[in-house]
Amino acid sequence: KEPQARKRLPVIPQGIERTRYFLAIDEISRDLGKENVEINDKPLEDGTWSVSGLFSPRNGSVVTNHPKPAPNTHDGMAIVDEEELVASAVIYPGSTEDVQKVVHWANKYLIPVHPISMGRNFGYGGAAPRVRGAVVLDLGRRMNKILDINPDDCTCLVEPGVSYYALYEEVQTRGYKNLWIDVPDLGGGSVLGNALDRGVGYTPYGDHWSTHSGLEVVTPTGEIVRTGMGALPGNNTWQVFPYGYGPFLDGIFSQSNYGIVTKMGLGLMPNPGGHDSFLYTFKKEEDLEQLVEIVRPLRIAMILENAANIRHALQILALSGKPRSTFYDGGGPFPTEKMHEYLRQHPYGECTWLYYGTCYGPKEVRRLKLDIINREFMKVPGARRINPAQLPSTDYFWSRDRISSGEPDLEELSWVNWWPNGGHVAFSPVAPTRGADALRLWQMAKEHWAKFGLDFFFDFVVGLRELHLIVECVYDRNNPMQRADALSAMRSLIQEAAEKGYGEYRTHLLLSDQVAGTYSWNDNALMKLNEKLKDCLDPNGILAPGRSGVWPARYRGRGWEI
Ligand code: ADP
Repeated sequence: KEPQARKRLPVIPQGIERTRYFLAIDEISRDLGKENVEINDKPLEDGTWSVSGLFSPRNGSVVTNHPKPAPNTHDGMAIVDEEELVASAVIYPGSTEDVQKVVHWANKYLIPVHPISMGRNFGYGGAAPRVRGAVVLDLGRRMNKILDINPDDCTCLVEPGVSYYALYEEVQTRGYKNLWIDVPDLGGGSVLGNALDRGVGYTPYGDHWSTHSGLEVVTPTGEIVRTGMGALPGNNTWQVFPYGYGPFLDGIFSQSNYGIVTKMGLGLMPNPGGHDSFLYTFKKEEDLEQLVEIVRPLRIAMILENAANIRHALQILALSGKPRSTFYDGGGPFPTEKMHEYLRQHPYGECTWLYYGTCYGPKEVRRLKLDIINREFMKVPGARRINPAQLPSTDYFWSRDRISSGEPDLEELSWVNWWPNGGHVAFSPVAPTRGADALRLWQMAKEHWAKFGLDFFFDFVVGLRELHLIVECVYDRNNPMQRADALSAMRSLIQEAAEKGYGEYRTHLLLSDQVAGTYSWNDNALMKLNEKLKDCLDPNGILAPGRSGVWPARYRGRGWEI
């Protein structure tokens, strides 16, 4: 006989009586099928971010389902107790009409619903709802069709459950050699979900939101809307012209809680006819300033064609996948001397910053660009070009090379193993691509690193004109002190950055009120407009309350904002 699975008492969303909640669950189970509604009463399992070892596009064996996938009921990398941000149930709609039914149901019972695509929003809250006990609407499980790939227009139309791996695989299976996809650092997530959250990738098509064309959306009151050319019956332009006619509404559905996106169109990059990835190292901390000044004009002119990636070398130690304790067993911030000690034995040699980049096009075209880049980068005293041919096939460089040429990969998160049971949270401020700003952000983050004693991994990413500093803070999920310190460090960084005029482009769901609060120009005029829109589109406040700091009237001023 099978041992009985242990059970948890499911949480109930605030504001609905327990028996009424279960009546509501019975009703939606009848409507959508019992198998498509799960009460969250099992022990919470954290799953894994990794499917490594199972996937190898190069030798053609592809497995996209991991036996222990990332959880859809909570954040598998929780920075507070997992039970704080946990779903009461998960619903699996199979169609846009199912989503519409769920929305009508949520309005009838005033149950908050939190839509996810695949719920792998690692470092920003994963699948967790902001409101404890909200029902997670897991769109990805059943709505995972690639509805179209057009090799002539270089476009696709996808549902929420299409991962980068699945899209890549399909492009290869159909033999579309002229098409590339753009992938973010981790290929396991949803193409649609990442674009909605304004995630980025590393080919010239890396700004995912900017490459989208056309959405299908279920509004919080249950209307189904198509944006752009999709509103024109019989059109054949939905994926080639994003704007259609009239107000361009797509923006209000990104990083928002104004609608549930059930389809998205995206442009795909034509195969450029070859690529070369390159790596430079820079010796001193202060080199950052000169390097960023060199990067700006090259990036804006597209000589540097993909997102610039300037990383602090400590991450190289962590990317080995080995825990921190193999390098250093003491407390406090990781000693710089230990980092240099390790790098002296590494093919990269002793350095503080690394630049990973890629050039595209036929060989002669690449040569021209690589020569200009080399000439400019070598102006920094002590700069070195690393010869990729001398790097072993296991070197992290090749993971960057895959990602920058549109091949999904998962190696990036190996740095989470820095601590046992590693989790991570990110501080992601935006600055102009100027040396002085980069240095100021670096100094500020470094002071926090020293003060909180938790190691940070730094990545300065230049999209085009702007620079995003991504500070990843890794903590042991089983260590409440470390989790609390990580959260405090993030809060302090957000505040200090805002005082200096820097704001975040994306944040963890527990920090979204704080970040939204920093965008306060003219007596919080932007948030007032956001709230007006929220109350108009979602009068019952059922859709993802609190997402991006936007609370509906029913919740506002009742202690939810933190
Ligand atoms: P990924 O699958 O890339 O990991 P998630 O599913 O975690 O992305 O989505 C990131 C965030 O975007 C979610 O937390 C949710 O707030 C929002 N989101 C994702 N998919 C949708 C959708 N289809 N409609 C509306 N919001 C969504």
